[in-house]
Amino acid sequence: MSYSPQMCRVCGAVANGIGSGEVLGLVVQYAECPACGYVQTEQPHWLEQAYAEAINVSDTGILARNQVNADIVVSALSLLGGLGLRVVDAAGGYGILVRLLRDLGVDAYWSDQYCANLVARGFEYDGAGAGLVTAFEAFEHFVEPGEELDRLLAIAPNVLLSTVLIPDPTPQPGDWWYYGSEHGQHIGFFRARTLQKLAEARGKCFVTDGRAYHLITDRAVSGLAWKVLLRLRKVVSLVAGWQLESKTWEDHLTLSGFKDKAE
Ligand SMILES: [Zn+2]
Repeated sequence: MSYSPQMCRVCGAVANGIGSGEVLGLVVQYAECPACGYVQTEQPHWLEQAYAEAINVSDTGILARNQVNADIVVSALSLLGGLGLRVVDAAGGYGILVRLLRDLGVDAYWSDQYCANLVARGFEYDGAGAGLVTAFEAFEHFVEPGEELDRLLAIAPNVLLSTVLIPDPTPQPGDWWYYGSEHGQHIGFFRARTLQKLAEARGKCFVTDGRAYHLITDRAVSGLAWKVLLRLRKVVSLVAGWQLESKTWEDHLTLSGFKDKAE
């Protein structure tokens, strides 16, 4: 099969073909950008099929991951100097993270145009200013990562994101679990330098744990501090809990219409 060149969807350079893999029964070409290190599928034309269900069926880690993510959001807020900052979870899925954060006492909201929210209805993001926006397991789904990052930065000046960095040397298509060929939703894979370029092009600082959790921010934060905080996230979350007041009961009163009567 002849290979047609791809343009990097992050930086626009010509990407080099690295082979083909099977995605949802289709043969799909992959390419790697020599300039920014981004690895991408060919222009994805299978997304309608891939998103027949917004949450893919093989995602068994959804609850455990949200628990970890809640501690990581609290760690990010600690690093950014404000547990009271408003948080918006973009691509909030079922709303699990927002509910967990509100239970911890964080002023969290969600926004997701693709997935029906199940557990955090009533806390939709209303466009008001926020201090931190989160995008967990979203960037590898984006067709245009730069444009999506701009949308996130329009919500808040600090972006906490997770996406698993692609190993070096680059695995062959089909040889790495995160390619996700069984669900077809992962179409782009990042290196630290890819994310760094995206951040720097927007005048932002970038720190990463070197694996999956990354922060794009206005603050001059230390990469070492970020790594240490992530290691100690359970303790950080516990200590933060002493300073925060859980919103579980308050939210119940608000949503059930009993708040006025209780006050
Ligand atoms: Zn590139």
